[in-house]
Formats: sequence, C-alpha cells, structure tokens
Amino acid sequence: MLEVKGIENGIVLDHISAGNGLKIFNELFSETECPVVLLMNVKSKVLGRKDIIKIEDTFDVNMDLLGLIDKNITVNIIKDGVLIEKKFASVPATIKGGIKCQNPRCISHTDDYAVPTFTLVKANGKLEYECSYCEEISIYRF
Ligand SMILES: [Zn+2]
Repeated sequence: MLEVKGIENGIVLDHISAGNGLKIFNELFSETECPVVLLMNVKSKVLGRKDIIKIEDTFDVNMDLLGLIDKNITVNIIKDGVLIEKKFASVPATIKGGIKCQNPRCISHTDDYAVPTFTLVKANGKLEYECSYCEEISIYRF
C-alpha cells in the first residue's frame, strides 16, 4: 500500500469511482497552485477500487459539478489535522456554471453574461438537463 501522509488543513475527496479521479482533477483542480495528491486504484471494501484526491488548501469545492461527475463522492474537510465536516455529493437538481449548453446556437455561447441554469429533467441512466435560455436538452456524461 502506497503511503501518503495525511493533510493538516485541506480537503480529501474520497469514494471516487476508479477512473473518475483524473476527470475530477481536470474539471475542478487543474488550475490550482496548491499541493494536490491524486491516488488512483486504491483498494476499497465498498467499491473494490477507488480514487482519492487530497488538496492541501481550503478549497471551495463545487459540489454540484462533483455530483454531476460522480454522485458517490464524500468530501472531508480537515482543519488542524481534525475532520471538521463531511459533505456528500449528489446529482444536482439544478446547476449554474461549470457546464455548457450543447445547442450550438444558444445565446450562452456568444454572450459572456448569459450563464444558463440547467434543470434536471431525467435522471435514470443518463442525466438530462434543460437549458434556461434555449430549453434545449443537454445530456451530461463525463
Ligand atoms: Zn442553451
């Protein structure tokens, strides 16, 4: 087992389905300048294999975007070496920002101030979201 020391102040994303760790890193943390550890294919009793991400910083995670990618993730917030809060991701009913409308003619692609809100209209199997500007249904799979 690979040893990575625990973090003093920061967040730990746990129970990421194996393979989703890199996607989450690219979507949420590729711009960060703080130390980030991405552990892939860690043995897990529940999932068989899982990925874990540790970030040594107080980072405001976009829980909606996280839930869109993988609804099983647990976010642990650690302060002075102590777990102070646990957040659970879930499929967001609405999401604003972070994703783009799949209709190429949607105003949100040309107007920087038009940030659409997407509303979940169907959740079994694929996630289908309706754009607040053009009402086009966009299907999200990462
Ligand atoms: Zn749209």
